[in-house]
Amino acid sequence: MTRITADVNFLRGYNQALVMAVGRTVGTFERSTVVQATGLTPQAVSKVIARLTVDGLIRPTGVRRPGVGKPAVVYELVPHSRYAIGAHVARRTLRLVLVDLAGSVQYSAVSPLPSDFTPQQLLDALASGITAMTGVNDVGGRLTGVGIGMIGPLDHAHGLVRGAHGLRHWHDVPLREIAEKHLGLPVHLDKDVTAGITAEAWRHGATFGDAALIMIESGIGGGFWLGGTAHRGAHTNAGEFGHTVVDLNGPRCVCGRHGCLEIVHNHAVEAGDVARAARVVAVGVVNLLQTLDLAHVVLAGADLLRHPETYLAAVADAVQADVRRTDWLTTKVTLSSLGADVIAAGAAMQVLDQHYGIPELAPI
Ligand SMILES: [Zn+2]
Repeated sequence: MTRITADVNFLRGYNQALVMAVGRTVGTFERSTVVQATGLTPQAVSKVIARLTVDGLIRPTGVRRPGVGKPAVVYELVPHSRYAIGAHVARRTLRLVLVDLAGSVQYSAVSPLPSDFTPQQLLDALASGITAMTGVNDVGGRLTGVGIGMIGPLDHAHGLVRGAHGLRHWHDVPLREIAEKHLGLPVHLDKDVTAGITAEAWRHGATFGDAALIMIESGIGGGFWLGGTAHRGAHTNAGEFGHTVVDLNGPRCVCGRHGCLEIVHNHAVEAGDVARAARVVAVGVVNLLQTLDLAHVVLAGADLLRHPETYLAAVADAVQADVRRTDWLTTKVTLSSLGADVIAAGAAMQVLDQHYGIPELAPI
């Protein structure tokens, strides 16, 4: 009985998510638009539309009168019907954004974090930042939760920060649980880069293929979108792109090994050679393409955004020159359209996804 109820709930959530996805993508839609896009029956779509209208997530915006046949009600998503807060926790800063149901960033603020901050200091900064945000944005009753994108390594499944290089107070900290208690809101915790690639997937919609987000900011990481979903790996620790080795005789890295992409890159930056730093990243990206055959590479991060064109050109040139058969293997290289907000915005979108996105299939 429990299993049947669970399946019905899953199906209802799934159908609802399909309709919401159409609404986000096309602007205005009719019942027939959804039927065509999703393959659901007209009866099923009518039910979902009725429920979403009652909940205020979509609304009728007019009637289309075709030459032949019955008039059709036209609907649209109500962007301000639900919100989520996104937080990007970096080594020295906390960025908070407010994102609406359509995925638009309505508010963005950045504040400094104490050096080597403790979990309590982060919780206090989150609480005061959220109070400031909700003080100037009326979201009463429409807030779905808080998404946190944080530097790893971290265990997304259990909501644990496993220990970040350079932060001494963060070993096996159950951040999701303590933040939920402290903030009184549901919390979703993920790696910064995984949140970031989720934002890109939302922005690009259904056409987004296999992709990576390369972030250069207090370290170098990679977020992956593979087979239509975020790829977190067996231990939810995928993305340590900066700690792949590019020079066997290279300098010693914070992780203890020699010649990691991150340390080789940082040495070039410290020497003032941004062109070389960008080429180091480009080599790493080409290695990724050879391994994963990606359709899209997105570049992001505060340190990269200081020299966006240099990095973009270096990576695009390397992809062109080093990936054989570029007539056939085409990969798009772009900068993130969300700029410095990409991680925080993606963390907020992950919260909205949990409620109004395609539910992730639970293991049977
Ligand atoms: Zn390393």
